Amino acid sequence: MVGVTEKFSPKFNYENRIVLRNSGIIDPENIDDYIGAGGYVALEKALTNMQPNDIIAEVKKSGLKGRGGAAFPAGLKWSFTSALDVPQKYVVVNADEGEPGTFKDRLIMEGDPHQLLEGIILCARAVGASKAYIYIRGEYKLCIARLEKAIKQAYDYGILGKNIFDSGFDLDIELKIGAGAYVCGEETALIESLEGNRGTPRWKPPFPGVEGLWKAPTIVNNVETLANVPFIIAKGADEFLQYGTPDCPGTKVYTILGDVAYPGLCEVDMGTTLRTIINDYAGGMKKGFRFKAALVGGAAGVILPDRLLDVKMDFTSLNQYSAVLGSGAILVLNEHQSIVDLLWSILRFFRHESCGKCSPCKNGTQQLYQLISKIRKGNGTMEDVNLMLLIAETMQQTSFCALGQSPIMAVRSAIENFTDEFIEITKK
Ligand code: NAD
Repeated sequence: MVGVTEKFSPKFNYENRIVLRNSGIIDPENIDDYIGAGGYVALEKALTNMQPNDIIAEVKKSGLKGRGGAAFPAGLKWSFTSALDVPQKYVVVNADEGEPGTFKDRLIMEGDPHQLLEGIILCARAVGASKAYIYIRGEYKLCIARLEKAIKQAYDYGILGKNIFDSGFDLDIELKIGAGAYVCGEETALIESLEGNRGTPRWKPPFPGVEGLWKAPTIVNNVETLANVPFIIAKGADEFLQYGTPDCPGTKVYTILGDVAYPGLCEVDMGTTLRTIINDYAGGMKKGFRFKAALVGGAAGVILPDRLLDVKMDFTSLNQYSAVLGSGAILVLNEHQSIVDLLWSILRFFRHESCGKCSPCKNGTQQLYQLISKIRKGNGTMEDVNLMLLIAETMQQTSFCALGQSPIMAVRSAIENFTDEFIEITKK
């Protein structure tokens, strides 16, 4: 094994890789390398031996759930769109990875861009779409360059364009560069932005699968979700089901940051414990430091204490602790770090990124930031702490989209799991 990954992950050889299996091994800028590694076999199989509904049935059977964070079953989502008899449908890839500490999609795209293209083509074939967009974070310059190259190579090989592999199926893929707004990772804001409008969310339902881009049925899937599909179609759902847990099959790509020995990324089975991910795949804590907490799922995630280190990392297990897998970012804190500081940083982020469309989020993120700033300076009271909870709960119930509904996760987990720190700082 070669490449930077080895340097980051001491147990690289023990990872159960699906979406990263080619990363660091093939040349991502050469389509022949991808083909040599078994690439586009799934597409050939799908176009020669399978009907669109067979593709959906296989993805449904695999139990693949949305890897952007919401865990909606991918095959079910595709089936809603495929059932609609309309002249135009779209596939949109959500590559606007904006969650703090999250860069898994970036590395999936940089390391193996053709795998994503193959996943998109399979999805488009399954639902009957003839146009796909990859809405990508503007800062991801290398991904953009590699995807542009990969798209051109795919057209040159007849894998994109008209009458792909003489199947009568046409597909064009276009890149759209995002302009840096976190809210554009929310699927309806992303669609607004693609249409050339200001990126603010739309009401759901109708869900994009029924009425999305330019009112046409649109599948919006995360990069990692689509990157799993070539494996599922090439090897079969039964093979995919060998990974992960019965309820959450497959693997998950994590980015691990903070006070661990080897920050970076790893891909491991769903259901692997947080302790194993930190100790075995990130080399444990940095020398001389003890574990204090892990922020799991980015700013929209939860802050977990050491008593929850043995929690299984999959969508279902985390739900039992009111926690989320979210985007797969894990930020590890040592015993000297302040949870109040961490929460301040998270709430500053939400205040900055609120799009301002709805009052609960616009005003709530501002109020939360003011309160945590006051507490952090030692001027707050426990009433302020409780007021933060009340505001975040109100935002969860009344905000228009996931952005305003998210701060409750960090606020509640910080206050409930690290109550003593809030009592201590408000005593000053
Ligand atoms: P959601 O549950 O509303 O929707 C998930 C997906 O399923 C969407 O594509 C939606 O259209 C579809 N869907 C849901 N119900 C449906 C139905 N009845 N019929 C058809 N389609 C349906 O969640 P969301 O608001 O899209 O996303 C929230 C998640 O995003 C959170 O879990 C959060 O962790 C995650 N998140 C990720 C990032 C990141 O960078 N990856 C950033 C912020 C938030």
